[in-house]
Amino acid sequence: MFESLSDRLSSIFEGLRGRGALEEKDVTEALREVRVALLEADVALPVAKDFISKVKERAVGAEVLRSVTPGQQVVKIVHDALVDMLGGDADPSLSFATTPPAAIMMVGLQGSGKTTSTAKIALRLQKRDKKRVLMASLDTRRPAAQEQLAILGEQAEVKTLPIIAGQTPRDIAKRAMEAGKLGGFDVVMLDTAGRLSIDEQLMAEVADIHKTTNPVETLLVVDALTGQDAVTTAEKFKERLNITGVVMTRIDGDARGGAALSMRAVTGAPIKFVGVGEKIDALDTFEPERMAGRILG
Ligand code: GDP
Repeated sequence: MFESLSDRLSSIFEGLRGRGALEEKDVTEALREVRVALLEADVALPVAKDFISKVKERAVGAEVLRSVTPGQQVVKIVHDALVDMLGGDADPSLSFATTPPAAIMMVGLQGSGKTTSTAKIALRLQKRDKKRVLMASLDTRRPAAQEQLAILGEQAEVKTLPIIAGQTPRDIAKRAMEAGKLGGFDVVMLDTAGRLSIDEQLMAEVADIHKTTNPVETLLVVDALTGQDAVTTAEKFKERLNITGVVMTRIDGDARGGAALSMRAVTGAPIKFVGVGEKIDALDTFEPERMAGRILG
């Protein structure tokens, strides 16, 4: 992710870095190019504008331009602004502040990578955080959705709730929480049904499950390859649900990174995890500082 933006920025900053003195117009010109590079990376326009004005405000301060290494200072300011744009020092860890089991609800559109991400996160919690995890699929609509999660559970060696045909999503959610409690699980992961697009029925269903299970985390799964549509989806979900974090999938195929760059600024929701491949362990935490470092090379 971010390869094209990273290439563009390094060539823009190459010109600034080595220079002994900078004038305001040099910075303005470089930032104009940065703005174009951000828009080409599919960053939302208001986010790109805001970014540039922040950097400019900090960079044209007399101290920066008169400093010994003005070019490097500008790059440092851009780095800090990128970290801010990506979510600052947001903590990617999940919250478990409740009497166990803690429910983690996964929501999102069909095909976003929700079921895969459910299993990836469950595996991570089990392996790294030593949590006892139970997964349950509440997707009674898509044929074989529940079986898909059961198969992933076998692969990851994470327990899944036994399937009982004919139950409603709400029944399954209740049964999962009960089984989680009786079985001494720390975490119950609820994989909800997706839709091809956001509709009232989907929203009503997820809102109902949310009310029934009172999750400590509600994670929205979006596909990075859908670019700004991922951001719009997040805005719509946020109107209805308290989304506590975003899981952005398929960043392994996303050279531009616009959705990741705009998500926090547009929706306020932090990206907590990124999917980096199809394999069950292809999941990373999203750390703004590290991502900004990656962009600036
Ligand atoms: P759902 O309909 O939202 O539950 O989506 P699935 O979890 O079934 O995922 C749909 C497809 O996307 C599957 O083929 C997954 O293997 C694939 N997928 C999910 N996450 C990633 C990812 O981070 N990178 C890649 N390359 N593929 C992914």
